[in-house]
Amino acid sequence: MTVIDTVLLKVASRCNLNCTYCYVFNMGDTGWERQPKRLGDAVAARIVEQLGDLYRYQGRPFSIVLHGGEPLMLGRDRLEALFSALHEEIPACGLHLQTNGTLLDDRILDLCARFGVGISISLDGPEAVTDRFRIDHKGKGSFQRVHKAVEHIRRHPKASQLFSGMLAVVDPETNAREIYDFFKGTGTPSVDFLYRDGNHDQLPFGKASFESTEYGRWMCDLIDAYLTDPTPPRIRVVDDMIKLLLGGAARKEGVGLSDYGIMVIDTDGTISKNDTLKSTTNAGDVFSENWSVVRDRLVDVVRSREFRDYHESQRPISSVCRTCADLAVCGGGMPTHRFSAKRGLDNPSVFCSDQKMVVARLRQWLKPHEGKAA
Ligand code: SF4
Repeated sequence: MTVIDTVLLKVASRCNLNCTYCYVFNMGDTGWERQPKRLGDAVAARIVEQLGDLYRYQGRPFSIVLHGGEPLMLGRDRLEALFSALHEEIPACGLHLQTNGTLLDDRILDLCARFGVGISISLDGPEAVTDRFRIDHKGKGSFQRVHKAVEHIRRHPKASQLFSGMLAVVDPETNAREIYDFFKGTGTPSVDFLYRDGNHDQLPFGKASFESTEYGRWMCDLIDAYLTDPTPPRIRVVDDMIKLLLGGAARKEGVGLSDYGIMVIDTDGTISKNDTLKSTTNAGDVFSENWSVVRDRLVDVVRSREFRDYHESQRPISSVCRTCADLAVCGGGMPTHRFSAKRGLDNPSVFCSDQKMVVARLRQWLKPHEGKAA
């Protein structure tokens, strides 16, 4: 059976921001329209019960990430009830919140501190960079509000426990070193950089062709800034690739070939695939069985053939990837980036040239240390 590492719990299906690149609302998927705006009490109770069952069955804890839309739109009281129930049922499972930060206040921070919830805030960089895409429904940039939230969390007495880090989407038209310096200046303990969504039919923003290397060049500049800084914030994707090059294992989907079990539960209790697949086709994240935690036993879903096939789709099937010298590090990238209407996921990542450039730069950095590892 697939071991689940992460459950993304969609507790609010709408968002108070309207980021132009968002795969939930602005890349052709319409699933959000059919979802209840917020997770209701009855579905929440069923989710808690089912996650407890899954934990006992697989005998290993998993992370539970509250996600959306914007998860803080669930409201403080419902959040408290959910944290409390999850904490009581499965105390071994870590709780996390992925938020746009605009609704973070002292009451939410105190609540998260009480239940040991780690908070990751989405922000792309300085004001002009963030406000280019991360706007609200009136077209107004979100930077000032989010930046205030970052200062707020840093001043909280439990900041070191609360603040997990920041999540940034790469804009290859920016200067990577300036973006790196900005994030370092925020005091964040870590930054996770994501490529923009896209595929072979819809090239990601800023990428001129399959062969072009805009993202690769940007990442190489970032790597140079990171690896020459004696006191850097952690950059997960770079750390993971270095670990893989040194023979270790990565921790998340989209890098390397380690197994990573992810499941998504929507606000109505529907169980879906990795939600980034929404950027491939409308309903690209939907299982044909249309399972729901309300009707179906989660353990049976995870043990099913269809779930196993979905899980195995993380591994690239393209012969280009399977014979690639960088496969063990790149892993074929995120499945959503391999998609084309003609061949499904049977393609290398649309970021293939970028990934090769990044791996080559890391190999260059590691070369002087070859043979020195114990
Ligand atoms: S996407 Fe490209 S770099 Fe990555 S494994 Fe496939 S062929 Fe290699």
